[in-house]
Amino acid sequence: MEAKAIISGHTELVGLMAYPIRHSDSPAMQTEAFRRAGIDCIQLAFEVDNTTLEDAVKAIRVLKMRGSNVSMPNKTVVGQYLDKLSPEAALIGSVNTIVNDNGVLTGYCTDGIGYMAALKNEGIDVKGKKITIVGAGGAATAMQIQAALDGVGEISIFNVKDAFYARGEETVRKIQEHTTCKASIFDLNDHEALRREIAESTVLANATELGMKPYEGITWLPDVSYLRPDLIVTDTVYAPPMTRFLEMACEAGCRYMNGHPMMLFQGAAAFKLWTGKEMFNV
Ligand code: NAD
Repeated sequence: MEAKAIISGHTELVGLMAYPIRHSDSPAMQTEAFRRAGIDCIQLAFEVDNTTLEDAVKAIRVLKMRGSNVSMPNKTVVGQYLDKLSPEAALIGSVNTIVNDNGVLTGYCTDGIGYMAALKNEGIDVKGKKITIVGAGGAATAMQIQAALDGVGEISIFNVKDAFYARGEETVRKIQEHTTCKASIFDLNDHEALRREIAESTVLANATELGMKPYEGITWLPDVSYLRPDLIVTDTVYAPPMTRFLEMACEAGCRYMNGHPMMLFQGAAAFKLWTGKEMFNV
């Protein structure tokens, strides 16, 4: 019996360049989505760090790859090797998706797009509303800038006074300079401000590492009295699927969502950039 070839001489390639990366579900997800859409393309993971990144980006052009995903430690440094950046990637200062249009490489950041799409998918409309996002690292910055670009009215950022706090201050400056959204940053240990800002918010998001290994079972939220049933609570953490933060949201009767939909929709946004097609309508 003749085996049905799934790869031919015409098969296109998108990459995933990061280190470490062998644990990623993305190549399986994207390749299955290409197959279902009838697109002759696959995604492969490549162990690329900052020392090999420039050559790896050159390979996208030389090998005429359709593009690539990029993850740590390359997200914040890959921009210098590209021809163009999308507005959100330029503001966030991070690229997780590269599109190759006839040798012209454009960098996008779909992490925040994925978060906003995950909210929209649940019927949650945050346009003109106030949201509180705890964190000032990579995921938090992408969510905060994208929320501001997408018309959220006001964003309150909280972070502990570690090395990320200055990045949060920079995000506030960028949001105020480039969007109509109001933004402020507070010390996460200022519990009075935390209680007040949560009380005024439609959505409360955890975008810190607390909840995932080695911080399982830990949250920065002092107690459930900070929550109310009509607050929507989201976590960027997806492993474990139920964090202490989300358990408290559940106890308080809030609607809640873990980081899985955000991850799925950031991949769907990259898929659309490469193919022009919706991942979930195929
Ligand atoms: P990062 O290292 O860039 O930022 C870490 C953040 O955690 C900072 O704000 C830091 O101040 C905060 N933090 C660390 N230790 C803390 C502590 N003890 N108390 C309070 N705050 C603390 O990390 P990142 O890439 O932004 O990732 C953050 C989380 O988001 C991780 O759990 C990651 O898995 C998750 N994430 C999810 C998605 C998704 O698609 N769902 C995408 C990216 C990241």
